Amino acid sequence: MIKFLDLNKLNKQFEADFQSKMKQFLDKGWYILGEEVKTFEYDFAAYCGTKYCIGVGNGLDALVLIFKAYMQLGKLKKGDEVIVPANTYIASILAILQADLVPVLVEPKIETYNLDPDLIEVNISSKTKAILAVHLYGQLADMNAINHIAKKHNLLVIEDAAQAHGAILDVANDEFEFKKAGNLANAAGFSFYPGKNLGALGDAGAITTNDDELAAVLFSMRNYGSKVKYHNEMIGVNSRLDELQATFLNVKLPYLDEENTTRRAIAKRYLIEIKNDKIILPFWNESDNHVFHLFVIRTENREQLANYLKENGIETMIHYPIAPHHQEALKDMKSMCFSITEKIHDEVLSIPLNSGLTNGEVNKIVKVINEY
Ligand SMILES: *Cc1c(COP(=O)(O)O)cnc(C)c1O
Repeated sequence: MIKFLDLNKLNKQFEADFQSKMKQFLDKGWYILGEEVKTFEYDFAAYCGTKYCIGVGNGLDALVLIFKAYMQLGKLKKGDEVIVPANTYIASILAILQADLVPVLVEPKIETYNLDPDLIEVNISSKTKAILAVHLYGQLADMNAINHIAKKHNLLVIEDAAQAHGAILDVANDEFEFKKAGNLANAAGFSFYPGKNLGALGDAGAITTNDDELAAVLFSMRNYGSKVKYHNEMIGVNSRLDELQATFLNVKLPYLDEENTTRRAIAKRYLIEIKNDKIILPFWNESDNHVFHLFVIRTENREQLANYLKENGIETMIHYPIAPHHQEALKDMKSMCFSITEKIHDEVLSIPLNSGLTNGEVNKIVKVINEY
């Protein structure tokens, strides 16, 4: 069986390093917000090209805290509207709701599965104050267009970069000198959930930004609203990047670009070699703006294809089977209609793609799909 994702295999190559760092960790006995978190924050900010990285508990918290920090700074207030793609992973929408803001769902482009800039402006109201741009499946949203719209309407732009560590904007733009995911807007939220392109061995997340004020609030807010122990300057939360997870992330960060390069190479093979009229392959302009967190194909009879692949020893997954506005948790949105989003959720199927796949496995996946 070719597993969809064999995390054990992927992390095995780091095992010796993990163990020696773990030994150091135990010997040192410093468990919360220590040197490893500081090192990771410094290195990940440098990697993204931002002034700051603030380590937090997970990707959802990263997004929630960005919104709450902007509220603390008076730049957002309860009830403000935030534009978000309708087909995103539900965490993006939950983050907006948990910050007492109002998500305004906007359809994606069917080609890229990312926000359609043409539909953003028609959804802007007097209450709209921000856009949450999601780089879904690892492909950057159209940040030049989104930043232009935001500038025109004086909106904040926040990246949900949970699936796009290391993606690079291919279109250089004079006005926006930013380059990498995490450095393409006002602030960005990352997740290091184990299955992400840069994954910890448990929950972890981070925020990147160039904004001094925002960073200062976030460093305090993630730690009970306190910079000096037992002095609480704001209503904070406990969402710190765990010192042990930072230790593992410090081992893995230097290999992130290599991981992404391998993912692109496999994606390129799939895009060239998979030839089947029943299957729609993902769009990619072959630049580094895509890190292929997922390789998502579409087909009319998804269940049939998934079963066929399973019978032939290939595990698949669906990202995602139910649209957010059809989820029980968001039943207020039940009556809404997003036909592109609904089509996507009916037809998508993710096939295995990660650096743990052997050439032989990729060959087999191509062959089996071509024979479907
Ligand atoms: C994984 C993910 C999140 C949430 O990250 P967690 O670390 O699981 O909280 C948010 N948005 C997107 C698009 C994700 O893929």
